[in-house]
Amino acid sequence: MNRRNLLKGIGLGALGAMSLPTGAQEASDKRYTDATKGLRPLKITKVRAITTSPMGARLVIIKVETDEPGLYGLGCGTYNQRPLTVVTAVNEYLDGFARGRSVDDIEDMWQNAYTSSYWRNGPVLNNALSGLDMALWDIKGKRANMPVYQLLGGRSRFAADCYSHAGGRDFKELEDSVRSKMEQGFRHVRIQLGSYGSSHLSQKPHFREAGFGVPSDGHMDSLPYLKATPKMFEHIRNTCGEDVELLHDVHERIQPIEAINLLKELEQYRPFFIEDPLAPEQNGYFPQLRNQTSVPIAMGELFNNPHEWVDLITNRLIDFIRVHITQAGGFTPSRKLATLGEWFGVRTAWHGPGDLSPVGHAANAHLDMNIHNFGIQESVYFNDAMREVFPGAPTMDNGYMHLNDRPGWGIDINEKAAAKHPFPEDPGTWLPIRRRDGTAVRP
Ligand code: MG
Repeated sequence: MNRRNLLKGIGLGALGAMSLPTGAQEASDKRYTDATKGLRPLKITKVRAITTSPMGARLVIIKVETDEPGLYGLGCGTYNQRPLTVVTAVNEYLDGFARGRSVDDIEDMWQNAYTSSYWRNGPVLNNALSGLDMALWDIKGKRANMPVYQLLGGRSRFAADCYSHAGGRDFKELEDSVRSKMEQGFRHVRIQLGSYGSSHLSQKPHFREAGFGVPSDGHMDSLPYLKATPKMFEHIRNTCGEDVELLHDVHERIQPIEAINLLKELEQYRPFFIEDPLAPEQNGYFPQLRNQTSVPIAMGELFNNPHEWVDLITNRLIDFIRVHITQAGGFTPSRKLATLGEWFGVRTAWHGPGDLSPVGHAANAHLDMNIHNFGIQESVYFNDAMREVFPGAPTMDNGYMHLNDRPGWGIDINEKAAAKHPFPEDPGTWLPIRRRDGTAVRP
């Protein structure tokens, strides 16, 4: 039934006839018919994982092929610490599950692939699912001849404002690093004294002398870090001024009560946000933390499960959701997570480290472009090798991340170039970090 007959059927024929002249109605009907003709049913013919490592991180890309020659989609399933488990989950399980199913019904695919393992919400299967999910969004965009952000409703901004990482082993080195980031155009800079937890400030690692653990195990003690961090903020505020937003990542390494005291002390330096002040296992401390300080809190880099973020958002206990979107199961759940945050005043700060593929960074940026409650994006740098493997990867300019306007994610993969960068021999792990007496430190 065309629109005129439909309107007649509900008693609005006269209104329909008045509002749309016959010629315009026919043109509208034809456009609709032409558009639906273009969407012939397409099936998935293969899902496979591609591995590559152009910059050291172990990247896992999932390619979904269809029964239309040349039409495929790409997704990110990178889990740097356990990449081969994702490869197995994709090639041995999701491929068989998805073959023969429609490329079009992304929501249906996500829901059923999610429960196809029965047990769910873990990092390995979430990354595999993310690869499949993102690849279907890529295909959807290619079929519509639009970038993915257009499928979501278009742009809310011209590019994604980003923060960059500044670091140094002492205050002077850090100050120089902050200035250099500001000269590159960054208005937001994350400041850290050396590695997470400022391990070089710690005292003698007695566990090493005692032969506890192995020599490569890392070391950090809370007290030197807790004393140095407010001084670091004071120095950077005094030397670099008020015209830069300062961020800092606690990286979950201290006790909850130490985090509460630290954030209260940092309040006077007006941080843009303090990231991951608590380990995910200590989510229950957020109400106490929130009641004692107005420092903006970013949380969630290690989250995999909706139960970890729903209460924090709906109880307004954090300011930025910092999820790694492949760990959360891909673009489909992350888009919903962003929408949940919008109603509770929680902005996004998607995790965007080197161990996310350019496809994953692009997915972050497509969300950043569309959603109203975008907060900030972690910036990324790609070398020439990475750009050869992933033509179309997002670019940085003046502190902003930019996307191209090609359909889908706007990124391709050069599989021959990818094969030139096999995984390192080390299959991937997060090395232990210990306190002076050898006690294991999270994460
Ligand atoms: Mg972090």
